[in-house]
Amino acid sequence: MFAMNDEQQALVQTATRFAEDRKDILSAGGGTLEKAKDIYRAYAGAGYHALLIPKEFHGQGLDYVSAGLVYEELSYRLPGTLHGPVTTAHCAEMIRIGLEGDRQASHLTAIARDGLAAGFCLTEEGAGSDIASIATTVRKTDGGYLISGKKSIVINHALASYLIVFAAGSPGKGRGGLNAFLLSPDLPGVSIGKPYASPECSFSVMGPVSFDDVPAPESSLLGEEGSGYFLLMETLDRGRPLVAACCVGSARKVFDIVLRHAKDRSQFGKDLFSFQGVSFPLAEYATRLQASRLLAFDALRRIDAKSSFSLEASMAKLHASDTLLDLASFGMETLGYRAASESHEIRRIHREALLMKSIDGTANVQKMVIASQL
Ligand SMILES: Cc1cc2nc3c(=O)[nH]c(=O)nc-3n(C[C@H](O)[C@H](O)[C@H](O)COP(=O)(O)OP(=O)(O)OC[C@H]3O[C@@H](n4cnc5c(N)ncnc54)[C@H](O)[C@@H]3O)c2cc1C
Repeated sequence: MFAMNDEQQALVQTATRFAEDRKDILSAGGGTLEKAKDIYRAYAGAGYHALLIPKEFHGQGLDYVSAGLVYEELSYRLPGTLHGPVTTAHCAEMIRIGLEGDRQASHLTAIARDGLAAGFCLTEEGAGSDIASIATTVRKTDGGYLISGKKSIVINHALASYLIVFAAGSPGKGRGGLNAFLLSPDLPGVSIGKPYASPECSFSVMGPVSFDDVPAPESSLLGEEGSGYFLLMETLDRGRPLVAACCVGSARKVFDIVLRHAKDRSQFGKDLFSFQGVSFPLAEYATRLQASRLLAFDALRRIDAKSSFSLEASMAKLHASDTLLDLASFGMETLGYRAASESHEIRRIHREALLMKSIDGTANVQKMVIASQL
């Protein structure tokens, strides 16, 4: 595909060693807050939540392609365990883009150096794909704002030290009225809801967060007033190919397991792979996997090159999440009863794959973005 440079090879090797040393993470995935905290601590301790934070702020200072390579490798070795650190990386990019000077430096340094987690609070009961319908409100006060509303699902909600909240400053103004705020969950009026018991996302924690007249200082506004939609689109576009790289890592794992099984298992006197009913789908998945990888790293390369990347980011996310889900379903079918146990790797990846199509915009939302640029 493309040759990794020496630094990228070293980063991937370090990720491989980390994953080998921390295989226990996979058996720890029990869906409890304590376990999610332990997993987050392991990743943050190695700086995997701060790959994109500049070195001057104690982050890893990686470009997007290098970060994608690392997340792909970690997802290959420890599939489905990266939602917490990737979400923080996402929020750190919102802070980097939305703030300047001392405010940017202090928050990014705190996240990178102290291994903190962040969550972004966007989705509401009435505003999923249709984010212009956000009902969370912001009212201006002397020296700040008051924020009220309910967010339905926030990854890292119960372990975050920072919450990025999207609120509508001028109801009826749609996207142009959106604002983003960087808040502490310790502010009065913030309520962190009970974590969802989600077998699909058992290595991280997520749940609802509500805001009841939360006093937000003026300094908590990210970007200019009314620029929340721009900030959201910019960071979602940057996050999508990273999510795609995670999907590629998990899909490679499924592929390896299924191929090995197809070659090892014999039925009707032959190994499964000798039947075209098994080898042809694998040939197609090998091709789709390679295409997913190329799309993901093309989008990441374009971000680094400061070219346009919105179209390519959505294509990458759409293709990689589709491929992962289809391949994981084929894996379930091919491994048969072996994959029936709750803890079987294919079963776990299949559960995760069911949700990867919704994260950072559903498959249809990616198609809307792509179609709008055709
Ligand atoms: C595991 C997981 C973690 C998440 N983490 C977070 C988080 O940390 N923070 C956060 O804010 N949100 C988070 N989300 C929410 C996620 O961003 C939303 O689920 C997503 O944006 C879709 O919203 P919805 O689920 O309400 O679906 P809806 O918007 O109700 O869509 C339902 C279906 O209808 C389709 N649809 C909707 N409108 C159209 C249209 N115009 N044309 C064609 N099809 C359409 C959609 O594609 C989808 O298939 C998370 C979701 C998941 C699954």
